[in-house]
Amino acid sequence: MKKIGFIGLGNMGSKMCIHLIKAGHDVSGYDIDEKLTDRLLEHGIKKETSVSSIAKNKDIIITMLPNGSIVDEVLKNVISNTINKPIIIDCSTIEVDTSKKLYKLALSKKISLLDAPVSGGTIGAKNGTLTFMVGGNQSIFNEMSPILNIMGSKSVYCGETGSGQATKLCNNMLLAITMIGVAESFNMAKKLKLDLNILFDVVSTATGSCWAVNNYCPIPNVGPHSPADNNFLPGFSAKLMAKDLNLAVDAAKTSNSTINFGKKAKELFTKMAEGNNGDKDFSAIIEEIYNN
Ligand code: NAD
Repeated sequence: MKKIGFIGLGNMGSKMCIHLIKAGHDVSGYDIDEKLTDRLLEHGIKKETSVSSIAKNKDIIITMLPNGSIVDEVLKNVISNTINKPIIIDCSTIEVDTSKKLYKLALSKKISLLDAPVSGGTIGAKNGTLTFMVGGNQSIFNEMSPILNIMGSKSVYCGETGSGQATKLCNNMLLAITMIGVAESFNMAKKLKLDLNILFDVVSTATGSCWAVNNYCPIPNVGPHSPADNNFLPGFSAKLMAKDLNLAVDAAKTSNSTINFGKKAKELFTKMAEGNNGDKDFSAIIEEIYNN
């Protein structure tokens, strides 16, 4: 049994920590929104009321926070207040460079830190089927993968620190671009008066097939059940996709990578995130394209 401190008990963290409690670990939780910790008391979480107290004497600290500046502030606080050098696992999606800076800071205090962002969304968090993309020291990854595999069904070691974040950004940029391609293709097919079920039948097994069309076809009643069949709610929101594309564009700048389609995807999803459809699944981008 490990003593685990879980910081950030929102849509994802609240569900992830329940799996750790059910697996028999001693889990303490902290969120600036106290109500969120209170809701987990019935599941057996221990309530902490500050970062400095949750940091004190844990074997592992897990963070699931909204963005890089909050992770930076919280983990600096953890690193300066901890007594027994826990292993830190940051599961938030943040800038590759922030992850690298925090890794160096932690290392200077002989504390290990893994960047371990996830894919699978809130459904994956609830069902314990997340995929973790992990960067950092490989032996620490090997030691921590049994913990990750309680919250997820797959954890992949991606390489040195920052590689988990970088892998996540490359994946999500590709997903965003392919979804825009699917939306344009189905939009044009509609205007060409094609039967969209027949188009799906062909495309989903032909050279145009991809995860976006095969699993999240953005046309209601076409393909398997997807957010389009439920007015695009719930799902992976356009706001979260815009956040990830913003991070991808930053990573492209620092690595001097050309991402013409990634930049265009950022522009389209940012516009969607700022408009009326920001909370809808990202596949609702098709509605933005129809409207233009
Ligand atoms: P969320 O906003 O629901 O949860 C974040 C929590 O952090 C909130 O409860 C907030 O009160 C808390 N928080 C903020 N500042 C804090 C602080 N200083 N100290 C303690 N707690 C603080 O977000 P989420 O949907 O759970 O996402 C968390 C992370 O996971 C994000 O980085 C997101 O990009 C990533 N992610 C989300 C999804 C998804 O589908 N929701 C999928 C993959 C990855």
